[in-house]
Amino acid sequence: MRIARWWHREGERLVCDLCPRRCRLRSGQTGFCALRVATDEGIALPTWGRVSALAVDPIEKKPLYHFYPGSQVLSFGTVGCNLGCRFCQNWHLSRGRAGAEQHSRPLPPPAIANLAVENGCDSVAFTYNDPVIFAEYAIACAHACRARGIQSVAVTAGYIEAAPRRELFAAIDAANIDLKGFSEEFYRRYCLAHLKPVLETLLYAVHQTSVWVEITTLLIPGANSAPEQIRAMATWIRRELGAEIPWHLTAYRPAYRLRQRSTPPNLLAEARRIALDCGLRFVYTGNLPDAGDALNTRCAGCGRVLVERQGFRAKALVPVPGAKDGNGEAPAGAARCSCGRQLPGRFTARR
Ligand code: SF4
Repeated sequence: MRIARWWHREGERLVCDLCPRRCRLRSGQTGFCALRVATDEGIALPTWGRVSALAVDPIEKKPLYHFYPGSQVLSFGTVGCNLGCRFCQNWHLSRGRAGAEQHSRPLPPPAIANLAVENGCDSVAFTYNDPVIFAEYAIACAHACRARGIQSVAVTAGYIEAAPRRELFAAIDAANIDLKGFSEEFYRRYCLAHLKPVLETLLYAVHQTSVWVEITTLLIPGANSAPEQIRAMATWIRRELGAEIPWHLTAYRPAYRLRQRSTPPNLLAEARRIALDCGLRFVYTGNLPDAGDALNTRCAGCGRVLVERQGFRAKALVPVPGAKDGNGEAPAGAARCSCGRQLPGRFTARR
């Protein structure tokens, strides 16, 4: 079994230095994430090199709307999670235990890169459960992919300590980072976590790395969706991260331990309107059967539709290098609207 990178000994205990929980484990104990386990040799990673879920997805499904729109991404995850969200939409994996690896499939990093190439994917995504808890494996996969011209994406809650964060973000090319709410109370009550480390990860990723970042917030009626909370979140995002970072507001459905009603479409539409009023330029809504224009990417200058979407299908209407349309064609041209305004994101094909 692989030994983890980030831990130290304190007397009889092993302290995990990967995430802010800093679990203190006696030999044989498993961390909060239900994945990392203390052994006599150190903290071990039973799921290194094994995947529990694997699929080829449109990149829009991550969701990433400004990162090679229309391209395909090889997506995989393991089991466990270092947050305890009562509303987890992937709880069958996130609440899976390390012992569930017998249901997983061995896929060492070079095999992940091979699979991506064989399936015509431009990128690989660490998703379904949080890649923070399998960071060593994710980083190794990202390196193997980079050597083959494949980019890497992390879909994460951003709950990670500074040292592993530096290594993870140095290895990847894009991230969708959850901002699950905007109060310590929400993070504590609904996620069994804290808000501050997540804000620190967002600031770090946007200002100190070259990683392309988009944000997702799952809006839960009566929990994190009050207009003043949306306004506070949007104002912070604009002031601290910039007006052009894409923000995905997605609909919650009853799952795991939270059974309250699903997010109604009008709540998402109102939240989007507030975010746009606060000055954010790219605000999308998702997890709805028909979000209409809220799926499209419009020029922030003239309002022209630059990338049109239906469900998870994307079609670039204005030439964008590397952006494939629904037929798999890659129109030539600049990532720029005809009015001259640049479209933020990654649109130039690397292979
Ligand atoms: S990664 Fe897991 S074991 Fe390590 S501190 Fe976080 S929850 Fe605990």
